[in-house]
Amino acid sequence: MSKWSLLAEFLALSMLSLMFLYFHEKRQPLSFRRRVFYWIFALSISSVVVNILCVYTISHYAVIPTWINQCLNVAYFILVVSACSAITLYTFDLILEHVYQKRCYKIAVIGLGILTGAYACLALTNPVSKLLFFFTPEGEYVRGPLNRLGYAIMAIEVLMVLGCYLRNRSAMPPKVVRVIHTLPPIAVILAGFQLLYPEILFNGVIFSVAAFTLYSNFQTCQIEEDYLTHLGNRKAFFSDLSGKMRSKQHFHVISVSLRQFGMFNEKYDHDFGDNLLFTIGKWFDSLSDGSRSYRYSGVCFAAVFPYSSEADSEKHFQEICQRFSMPWSCQNVSCNICASVCDLTWTGQSWTSNTIMQYLELMTEMSKTGADPFLRFSSDIAAAIERTRHLEDVLRSSIRDRRFTIVLQPLYHCARKTFCCAEALIRLNDYDGTPIPAGEFIPIAEKSGLIDEISWIVLEKVCSFLGENRDLPLESLSINLSMQQFQDPSLLSRIESCLQRFQIPKGKLKIEITERVISQDLGYAKAVMERLSQHGIGFYLDDFGTGYSNFSVVMQLPFECIKLDRSLLTQLIDSQNNVEIVRDIISLFHNSGFRVACEGIETASQSDIVTNLGADLIQGFYYARPMEPEAFSRFIQSHSGQHSS
Ligand code: C2E
Ligand code: MG
Ligand code: MG
Repeated sequence: MSKWSLLAEFLALSMLSLMFLYFHEKRQPLSFRRRVFYWIFALSISSVVVNILCVYTISHYAVIPTWINQCLNVAYFILVVSACSAITLYTFDLILEHVYQKRCYKIAVIGLGILTGAYACLALTNPVSKLLFFFTPEGEYVRGPLNRLGYAIMAIEVLMVLGCYLRNRSAMPPKVVRVIHTLPPIAVILAGFQLLYPEILFNGVIFSVAAFTLYSNFQTCQIEEDYLTHLGNRKAFFSDLSGKMRSKQHFHVISVSLRQFGMFNEKYDHDFGDNLLFTIGKWFDSLSDGSRSYRYSGVCFAAVFPYSSEADSEKHFQEICQRFSMPWSCQNVSCNICASVCDLTWTGQSWTSNTIMQYLELMTEMSKTGADPFLRFSSDIAAAIERTRHLEDVLRSSIRDRRFTIVLQPLYHCARKTFCCAEALIRLNDYDGTPIPAGEFIPIAEKSGLIDEISWIVLEKVCSFLGENRDLPLESLSINLSMQQFQDPSLLSRIESCLQRFQIPKGKLKIEITERVISQDLGYAKAVMERLSQHGIGFYLDDFGTGYSNFSVVMQLPFECIKLDRSLLTQLIDSQNNVEIVRDIISLFHNSGFRVACEGIETASQSDIVTNLGADLIQGFYYARPMEPEAFSRFIQSHSGQHSS
């Protein structure tokens, strides 16, 4: 008759089986840790099943041959200790993940191996030694003198884990610390309970609690694993970087940002795009030298290597650059993927994981706009990044304190020989009063999203100027808008409410946008421009000829005026041939009903040339530099007498 209660074991068996099903369902690559987790399940479930069988066979010893009982009990003793060793191995792997010095790891693994092996030998020889258990001649089960040795071994393993943890706790991610703080005490309490109440079989509960703790913290893919590539996700990337920095483990991180990846989704389909990302992820996963790889956002990957030497870092960087210079094969399609590859090395600088991410992101931006898509961290880059960060800081504080000012640059009307309109340009000084060029801070404001507030400040200043200078003989004043404002659905209402507040007639305000703004989505751009034009707000196309030029696109849009960029004019006016090209451009625009303004005219001869070519308006230092609002008012008033048409 059975003197043991199996209820807890049955409950544990169902819990373990359920967890195993969830775990197994997620088809992921078999990392070492995942493999160990499989063993934890296999050994725990087997130990519980064998335990239940043992209870049955022991209680029916009269009818069951003793050798079956012997075998099952030997198997049970081995399985229990092995399951515990697998859990310990998994925990060691977690604790020592961020410790590059693998000596401790080796010692732990050898120690575990010896303990488990010795115990297994003892269990296998038990039918002779009878140290763990034995059977009476009648076949009844009796505990041997070392029956509790398994618990002692488990206790030793727990102590090993704690020792290892205490030695390396500075390198521990917070989640591992949490598990170490909870799991061993729970295991000790449960083991103590088992010792106190030997008739309630409890080992399965200990295993299922351990497996559940590890599973919920480390093995569910939602937590730190990217669902698509099974690499680490952004969270894992951050926590690993922080862990390594906390434990002073120097590392080399390489980030890869894929460019124009949406093209593959559009050309094929999203499944293809996913498969391509999976293929790339698999390649990252195969990188060696102790690296771990991540997909930290949609099309951004990273690999983190332990830092050993500059030569090794260079080797890893080149390996990744080379791979991304070659095509990828996915579903029998060969794909050439453009990628920005950047790296940096952490050797103890006072950075945080956020600083590293910012550096990588800024370097990625730089590599996108620069000539070389592969960018290694250098002191120049560090200085450029510092400058960007500083300017972001200045921008933020200037938005808060409204420190921006505007200057106004008149545009000369060639036919009327007077100044008819002007462009408002923003100005900003650094904390020490040094002017910061608009061409430097506007792109930073655009990237950091600060341009929005800045543009509304300019709009307000321009409207306020127009409101205060109603009598100024000025046809219109233009403001520059960036992509973000142009795409803002509230653009029209914001402009209208500002014009209303200062009671400005709508025709007085013009908006300058570049071709970059319209190149994104022509249909949308057209709709926005038409809507605003119907409300009397006209558009100028700024910087024509800076690279995005496309006549057919421009012709479709309701621009009032096309501003030819300074770079186009200075380049073209150098030779007679180029002059003819500018003439053709101007007449092409005229024939389509646009006015043409020439920007950046600095000399009398440039002015003569573009006037002869038929330019309607001229903007440039030759006629007038951008001026403070008061100086501008005086300038316009004093030149209004020149009107000759
Ligand atoms: P932009 O809109 O093409 O403005 C004309 C730029 O050319 C101005 O530079 C102006 O000072 C400069 N310029 C005018 N005449 C001459 C000349 O004869 N020679 C030379 N070398 N330059 C001349 P600025 O003020 O530094 O502005 C640079 C760019 O920054 C602007 O180019 C515009 O794209 C952007 N920007 C300026 N203010 C704003 C603003 O309020 N909002 C936005 N989104 N962008 C702005
Ligand atoms: Mg402009
Ligand atoms: Mg321009």
